Amino acid sequence: MALKDLFTKNQPKKKKYATIPKETVKNDVPEGIMTKCPSCKKIMYTKELLKNSKVCLSCGFHFQMTAQERIDSFIDEGSFVELNEEMVSVNPLNFPDYLEKLEKDRQKSKINEAVVTGMGSVNGHKIVVAIMDASFRMGSMGSVVGEKITRAIEKADELSIPFVIFTASGGARMQEGALSLMQMAKTSVALKRFSHNGGLIISIMTHPTTGGVSASFASLGDYNFAEPGALIAFAGRRVIEQSIREELPEDFQTAEFLLKHGQLDAIITRTDLVDQITNLLEIHQPGGELEWQEN
Ligand SMILES: [Zn+2]
Repeated sequence: MALKDLFTKNQPKKKKYATIPKETVKNDVPEGIMTKCPSCKKIMYTKELLKNSKVCLSCGFHFQMTAQERIDSFIDEGSFVELNEEMVSVNPLNFPDYLEKLEKDRQKSKINEAVVTGMGSVNGHKIVVAIMDASFRMGSMGSVVGEKITRAIEKADELSIPFVIFTASGGARMQEGALSLMQMAKTSVALKRFSHNGGLIISIMTHPTTGGVSASFASLGDYNFAEPGALIAFAGRRVIEQSIREELPEDFQTAEFLLKHGQLDAIITRTDLVDQITNLLEIHQPGGELEWQEN
């Protein structure tokens, strides 16, 4: 051993850039000056990444968004009015530590539940919007999530304006057992009623949209869209492989796979989202088709 090794051996490795996040912070953009893309590994200014709606400037990877970031990037500035903001979950099954976990997530995410609902406009078109946030209990669906979404749909129905939902969810919330599963039926019926009354439903599935959410309101839009690369699934890959005893294709359960197999209408890049949804809202507004053609 060389003498100099004695002095360097146990010293921590020097970091090249002090503000780069660790590998473990995969889908979240920390409050650093620089951010590393988990897909292409390129390093970019966090500020520029945020300006680009959290889409990697190099490879187009879509970082996860919080509900507030989604409001900022999708809804006209200053037009958002939140609905049922104060609604919080109780612990109906006395599940151990559930209330503590909710409180922790509330403090961490600064929202009361895994969905934020409200009214706002997109390029002047009024909508009711529901935005799920995977940073709260992994976006899982308990009774409050189901209730807030149902009330949002009913609000859209009452005002006769379109309903737009962004989904991001790990599925039903196990701490509320069967009450979570009931939300699938409740939200689905509300959407059916709204649809009967001529309401327009646009669903945008973001990464990840799984379990009971993918099997209910996420897939019930008049238009079902997804962001590139989003995981969209009901059961997990291993569970399916074990039950059908077959290996599944590599891209199984991605937005791209689902588009190829007719489950989605389109994949929309986040930076095009406002324009594309504006077009749809214009086409569907009363008399919209005529105006559309005249232009
Ligand atoms: Zn990238």
